[in-house]
This record gives sequence, C-alpha cells and structure tokens, in this order.
Amino acid sequence: MSSTSSEAASVTAAAPLLKVEGLVKQFPVRGGLLGREVGRVHAVDGVSFELAAGETLGVVGESGCGKSTLGRSLLRLIEPTAGEVSFEGRSVTRASPAELRALTRDMQIIFQDPYASLNPRMTVRDIIGEALIIHKLSGGAAEREARVVQLLQTVGLSADHLRRFPHEFSGGQRQRIGIARALAVSPKLVVCDEAVSALDVSVQAQVINLLEDLREQFGLAYLFIAHDLSVVEHISHRVAVMYLGRIVEIAPARALYTQPRHPYTEALLSAVPIPDPRIKRKRIPLQGDVPSPLNPPTGCHFHTRCPLAQTERCRTERPVLKRVVDGDDAHWVACHLRE
Ligand code: SF4
Repeated sequence: MSSTSSEAASVTAAAPLLKVEGLVKQFPVRGGLLGREVGRVHAVDGVSFELAAGETLGVVGESGCGKSTLGRSLLRLIEPTAGEVSFEGRSVTRASPAELRALTRDMQIIFQDPYASLNPRMTVRDIIGEALIIHKLSGGAAEREARVVQLLQTVGLSADHLRRFPHEFSGGQRQRIGIARALAVSPKLVVCDEAVSALDVSVQAQVINLLEDLREQFGLAYLFIAHDLSVVEHISHRVAVMYLGRIVEIAPARALYTQPRHPYTEALLSAVPIPDPRIKRKRIPLQGDVPSPLNPPTGCHFHTRCPLAQTERCRTERPVLKRVVDGDDAHWVACHLRE
C-alpha cells in the first residue's frame, strides 16, 4: 500500500538527527529601472526528508536542480523561504543568532572548491585553529596547536603541514584540510557539497574512503551532495534524486541502483558506465537541458523530458512522494505512473 509524502517524516529513525519538512527556497529576480521583482527562481520546491545519526544520505541530480541550495539552506548559509528544519528536535529555521551558532557546531559543511573556502593568507594551523577559537574549544596556543596536529593526523596529514599555506597543497590535500577544519568542532552532521567533484578519480576514491572511515570513527552523518550517481553509490545508505528543486525518488542505495522507480532516475542510471563488459544497459536518452527554475514546467516538472507516456495528469498535477515499499527498505517515488 502506498502512503503520501505527509508521512515522509517517518521515513527513518523515530528520533531523527535532521528533519526537513516542506523546505522552500526562492530567489527573487529583479528587473527594470526600479529594480522591481519580476520573477522567482524556484531553487528548492518543498523538500522533506529525515536523516538518522550515523547515516549517509546521497543527494544527486543534474547541475541546477537545487542540491547545493538545499545543503546551504539547511545550515541557513542561505535563508530558506519557507519550511522547517530541525536538528535533534531543535529548530534551525527559527533559531536566534546565538542558538544558530551553537547549532552550527553540530552541523558543518565541506565545499567543492577547498581552495576558494580556505583563506590563502592563513597557515593551516590558523585555518583549523580558527574554528577552535570561534567555538571556544581550546585553552592556550599550545593546546590549540596540539589539537590541530591531532586533526591533521586524523585526515592523513601531519605536523609538517602546520605552517604551510593552502597553495602549497594538492587538491586532495586541500580537501583534507577542509575536512579537518569541519571536524575541529566535533560535528554530528557534515554536509559534503560536491566535496569530491573537482578531484581526479583516484583522489576522489581516497577522500571518499577517508570520509567513510571518519563516519565510523566519529559516528558522523553525511548529506553527500553530488551530480554523479556513481560517486554517491558506495558511500550512501540511502540516495535522494532531485529534479528542479524537488525530490523525485528516495530509497536505500542498493534498491535505487538496482530497481529505480522514477523515469528520471532510470535515465540518469542508464548513462552510468558499468565496469563489467558482459552487462549491457539500455541507454535512455534525456531530451534537452533541465528547464529554467525561473519558470519550471507545470504539474510534474519532468514532463517536458519524460520518455514515458505523458498524460494530461503529468502536465497539470504535481506528483507527490509516495511510499511504494514499506519497512526498513522504504522506497519513495513521485510519479503518477509508478504509484
Ligand atoms: Fe513522467 Fe508523468 Fe511520471 Fe512525471 S508523473 S515522471 S511526466 S510519467
């Protein structure tokens, strides 16, 4: 029996670490001489999900589908337009500045371009030590330096790197510094926003292995955002697929990769190369580009590119996320033909 997205709150644990309900982020577009609002970019369009402690939820979709805006809105690096985010039962969306500062100790983010997010004029010691100072997590300079060395060793670097600047490191090493900075405040959740997308494939694998080790060691939860389905497959317990600001499918990783239910997921997966040459997968071509989030298609946002029969219902009625498999392997899909 299927259930509607109003029950999305019960997708995971009874007491989730992170709970997101109906999150919306719109960016006003201004024009004309008076700079009046002439439209709105619908970047995140009513997203709900839960994340348990120690869980990794992969979030995938083509660029421009709202993944990064979602990640940043959760931490209020971008103010959400509507909806509710709570962390361990505490509201993030309604938190005062002081409450938000306390919450962000538990919720950290790692960005795609570590070089842009690391101050080029600061040494590694100061970059990582800064987080300890801001959150009043160290006593004197000696204690702080010892903690920074410990963090560097945790991410596979060493005390030799303390006095170096970001430009003296490779891309993979810089991302390790970004991870050490995030870990400095002992978070419970880390949003990895395309954290390995800019790295070479072999370095990507090393950083993903590191993130998995850290999850086990510290019981971290990850929201792992990537545009590449093959990147999130092995690190994620569950995967959510986004299209034009909405989650269209969310399921345990294995179920999503072996039995995708949404036509968009099927098309994305058909383009992922399979290492075994004996296995052939029929390619499902996606027509055109993702439509503009400034003026998204009515009804099902995917109807302009969907290879399945497009009924009037597809063009006029928004499909809501419905549970098509119950229990621990709960599988949710938003498609009128897959209910
Ligand atoms: Fe395609 Fe219609 Fe399903 Fe949307 S609701 S994915 S347009 S079949």
